[in-house]
Amino acid sequence: MKESKTVEIKITGIVQGVGFRPFLYNLARSLNLNGYILNRGNAGVRLVIQGYPQNIQKFIEEIRIKRPAISFIENIETNNLDFEEKFEDLEIRKSEPGRGISLTLPPDIAICENCLKDMNDPQKEKYYQYPFIACAVCGPRYTTVNELPYDRERTTMINFPFCHQANPVSCIQEYSDFNNRRFHAQTFACAVCGPHYTLYNKNREPIKDKSIDSILQETAEMINDGKIIAIKGIGGTHLVCLANDEIILKLRERKGERKYKPFALMVPNINTMEDELEISNKEKELLTSFRRPIVLLERKKSIVNSVISQQIAPGLNNVGIMLPYSGIH
Ligand SMILES: [Zn+2]
Ligand SMILES: [Zn+2]
Repeated sequence: MKESKTVEIKITGIVQGVGFRPFLYNLARSLNLNGYILNRGNAGVRLVIQGYPQNIQKFIEEIRIKRPAISFIENIETNNLDFEEKFEDLEIRKSEPGRGISLTLPPDIAICENCLKDMNDPQKEKYYQYPFIACAVCGPRYTTVNELPYDRERTTMINFPFCHQANPVSCIQEYSDFNNRRFHAQTFACAVCGPHYTLYNKNREPIKDKSIDSILQETAEMINDGKIIAIKGIGGTHLVCLANDEIILKLRERKGERKYKPFALMVPNINTMEDELEISNKEKELLTSFRRPIVLLERKKSIVNSVISQQIAPGLNNVGIMLPYSGIH
């Protein structure tokens, strides 16, 4: 133990809810460092790590280089500790209590490529067609957090305890395995333990439950019949209908106060809109970013009979467009 030293590291920024603890765990492990990692009540992360000085040095350098793409590091503070105790292993410890600053939480994060792949892969039975699929780098964040530090028991996912028996691997096993991309992820679940969709008629009576396949089938038929559906999603409810003049006017009438206020449109991909709307590279970048914001795009002047109803944004020359960002979309 002579050459090894012990260092306390405090990191601030957007470092909770972005897969930071599992990232630090695997980085520290690859450099043979022991000690512990925890979330702090003030929205930061604190570590005490022990190992060879050159490895600790490398560890601190690589935090900035390899950090999760959606994280943001404001500051890394290090203090040498005069420490007699020898750590035998590396662990993620229980978070420290305290007051959180909600501004340092990430927004909800669009479904990632890996989750999208799993959701569409019949071989990945556990998540196949499960619309609430998520992992340590994607899924709901801001809208699920009740309080910091960021842990499942302080999110709305507290109502969905991890399963212990799902096949081939349970959620609690995924959560505990540092090789798994759901290691220490807080807001994921599966079809066994997580939330489900139910389809209700306008009298709020359930008409279809759980089987997402049949719910989507029936919903699609109703939309094609000119009905307006409300779909509860991450962070709010979407109104879904055909976007033609007649139906949009019906929607405006039902919403009462919304005679002219523009609606935003969700489109399946950017190509769908390229003929109709001006899209710069910067706008493309924004649309496809993990935040999936609504971006205002200008209608092309050359288009005479646009497929986008004038009733979407009456009297305006631009339209708010967004891309799908969750499994249900
Ligand atoms: Zn994911
Ligand atoms: Zn589960």
